Amino acid sequence: MTNRNFGDFLHEARLRRGLTQYQLGALVGVSDKAVSKWETGLSKPQIGILYQIGEALGVSVDELLSCKYRSVEKQSSKGPFATKKQLWKKAYDTMRERYGDPVPIAISDRFFAEQAELQHTDLIVYFDLLATLSAKAKQRNKQIRLSGWAGTSLVAYLLGATNVNPLPPHFFCPNCHAVLFDSSVKDGWDLPAQSCSCGTMTVGDGHDIPFESFRHVAQRHPSFAISLSPEFFDTAKSLLEYYFKDCVTTVTEREDHRATSWTVSSQHSDCTISLCANPAFASYEALEAATATSFERVRFANPEILAEFQKGNVEGIPEFGSEFIKQLLHTTCPSSFHDLLQLLGFAHGSGTWQNNAAQLHRQGVPVGRLIAYRDDVFCRVREAALARGISGLGLSYKIMEDTRRGIYAKNGLPADLREQLQLLGVEEWFPDSVEKIKYLFPKAHGVTHARIAATLMWYKIHYPKEFQEIFSCKLRRGHL
Ligand SMILES: [Zn+2]
Repeated sequence: MTNRNFGDFLHEARLRRGLTQYQLGALVGVSDKAVSKWETGLSKPQIGILYQIGEALGVSVDELLSCKYRSVEKQSSKGPFATKKQLWKKAYDTMRERYGDPVPIAISDRFFAEQAELQHTDLIVYFDLLATLSAKAKQRNKQIRLSGWAGTSLVAYLLGATNVNPLPPHFFCPNCHAVLFDSSVKDGWDLPAQSCSCGTMTVGDGHDIPFESFRHVAQRHPSFAISLSPEFFDTAKSLLEYYFKDCVTTVTEREDHRATSWTVSSQHSDCTISLCANPAFASYEALEAATATSFERVRFANPEILAEFQKGNVEGIPEFGSEFIKQLLHTTCPSSFHDLLQLLGFAHGSGTWQNNAAQLHRQGVPVGRLIAYRDDVFCRVREAALARGISGLGLSYKIMEDTRRGIYAKNGLPADLREQLQLLGVEEWFPDSVEKIKYLFPKAHGVTHARIAATLMWYKIHYPKEFQEIFSCKLRRGHL
């Protein structure tokens, strides 16, 4: 690139994005003068910050270096990205098949809100890939855990890219497809199975995960991490290679050949997909084989599973091995699956429990109301705004994003925002609580972890001998 061409391209891309020189400078950590020099060709940025500039301007490093936008026609017709339109139709048809016709308004509203945002990205292609991998693994009775991110999207759920349902808590009838939302609980796994009017038993589902907590992933360089059974690794790897054969730019393979990641380039952005063989999954498969019972069969709305967690009987259960979480179980005595989920959020966050939620809990705030996930921040502000007839989308999003990145922990919550939260009637302790948080975990990841933990607890209760035999040597070696 010549400095001059680069300057012109940068100038144009910055204006397209509606940024001033000062704003672009602030985003990449330089002064407006430095940006001005780049644009006039007097100097050029160091290689190290090209990626940040690209992110700020919504262009790839390739585009910056070649000083031109990538040809839309050429890229969009490449490989799997040519199928986007069909995939959107497939997701829409699946929604109508699953939730009846007409689909309840709350569900179709969510679908169209996601579509409005995602149709300008290539994420649906990656959702389709995750779904294909998952279906193949299921066919062969192999374990796979898809990236938690997908659990934030209803479209991903409909396509089969995740088994985390992000809708608000609801009963679902697998026979007549009736849906009944129930706001008496905070998590759909806390709904007991009930008989539908058609005579079939309904299933409680829905973890109430707002799509907004996915937005920053969708807009930037998305990445998906997939962990899977070592025995399924090679199959998954060839499938991925085939899928993206024309669009992969970088492949990184770990020395032990147990993890590979690909950077895939498409019209809109680059995406990183990583596969990692997880030896623990072989034990899960052994457990399924020894008991002739599939993981899929376990129902979570099951008081006996919760009772074991309450008793602290968590030896061998992943995510519940640390002293910190055992202490949390003891202190809070979770009375629902939602409470249990909250504990995983405290454990994965930073500045969430000690000197924060712990004090509030002692003062009588229930575990379910405390801030455990970034999604909680969004939902709490939104709920208060809606109660006052305001959409609250903008404010909820800002406060969630700033809290999860620890901005208020560093600089304090600005006085005007504090006042607005007060005016909305958000709980009094809320502003002080967000000021102490340095990092918040996404709820969709928490649900993925909770699912595995609850499933293994079910086996531990019903097949103690098999559980012990398969996990005891690992427990001794400290593998879990
Ligand atoms: Zn029914």
